[in-house]
Amino acid sequence: MADKHKLATRLIHAGVHPDPTTGAIMTPIYQTSTYVQAAPGDHKGYEYARTQNPTRTALQDALASIENGQYGLCFGSGMAATDAVAKLLQPGDEVIVSNDLYGGTYRIFTKVFANYGIKFHFIDMSDAQNIRNYINGNTKMVWVETPTNPLLNIIDIEAAAKISKEHKLLLVVDNTFASPYLQNPLDFGADIVLHSATKYLGGHSDVVHGALIMNDAALEEKLRFIQNSCGAVPGPHDCWLVLRGIKTLHVRMQRHCENGKKIAEYLRSHPKVGKTIWCGFEDHPNHAIAKKQMRDFGGMISFTLKDDNINAALEVLKKTKLFSLAESLGGVESLIGHPATMTHASIPQEDRIARGLSDSLIRLSVGIEDIDDLIEDLKQAIG
Ligand SMILES: *Cc1c(COP(=O)(O)O)cnc(C)c1O
Repeated sequence: MADKHKLATRLIHAGVHPDPTTGAIMTPIYQTSTYVQAAPGDHKGYEYARTQNPTRTALQDALASIENGQYGLCFGSGMAATDAVAKLLQPGDEVIVSNDLYGGTYRIFTKVFANYGIKFHFIDMSDAQNIRNYINGNTKMVWVETPTNPLLNIIDIEAAAKISKEHKLLLVVDNTFASPYLQNPLDFGADIVLHSATKYLGGHSDVVHGALIMNDAALEEKLRFIQNSCGAVPGPHDCWLVLRGIKTLHVRMQRHCENGKKIAEYLRSHPKVGKTIWCGFEDHPNHAIAKKQMRDFGGMISFTLKDDNINAALEVLKKTKLFSLAESLGGVESLIGHPATMTHASIPQEDRIARGLSDSLIRLSVGIEDIDDLIEDLKQAIG
């Protein structure tokens, strides 16, 4: 989608056209399974709704535009999008994956695709050059999540892209945590951007949805073939919710970032808090890379307590009132979570600890409520 407009304009207008029959300014929810043909093969570009749906088309075009890509493809969830990308692989292929990543991604790789003879290397990419140590003749793909979940490590996308290009590997970047407002991986040389639109893109905790964005036409064709053949497509109503959500992405993200900064600073100064992890801190190990590839630092924060035991952490989780105890992130409301027992419970404890994900780590998805109320809530919960 070549579009000269700036992001804030594209978030609202890209992909969206007044409905040709009524002029409706909002893309209708085309709740249909099929389309009537005038004669066999004589149709308006829409044959069957697994293959094409106009509400989905509008969203796919919008997502492509806001990620500075040519093509967008939507799926029934972020995991369905991950599944589609993994289906580009064949038995014997190897993938190099950042080792601190979404628990569900770890699970689908190790419990589903490993059964099909695909090998995954989960490695520390805080120095992207480490990727080189795992490349061999079978390597086909590099999978990066940045910022990582939940330790908020930052991986240098440009460096990972350079290594991937040298070895003709596909670079996939899960951009869910940053959102297109903060980071556009295709601009740094990634081949595929993945989103769980369930998070910041949808933004209102009311939809599960996934997306892929890319520039290469042949890659798009392969992934569109998988999208249609495997059928993990989103319904039109869910596409419509994401289309509605992205119209305010820039406004929401601005507040997520402002609130995130203030809360990160508050936690860091709190006498009972141990370590506060937020990529906006200048002493974050990869802050310089975050500054290079992100426009701001977001509202995802993790912290531990000085009283570093699981019960002290669970006590805080029980006491917050505005921060709701829930999995997920990126909605307008603030959430608090405990990765070890919630989002990352599918990773074995020894693997978790080896990666620095301690049992007392608490993760915040800072929402867009009033900052004073949010800080007050943390104050009474931490004590
Ligand atoms: C939530 C999430 C996913 C999975 O997306 P779903 O929409 O829940 O299937 C993948 N990656 C990251 C970083 C996520 O946060």
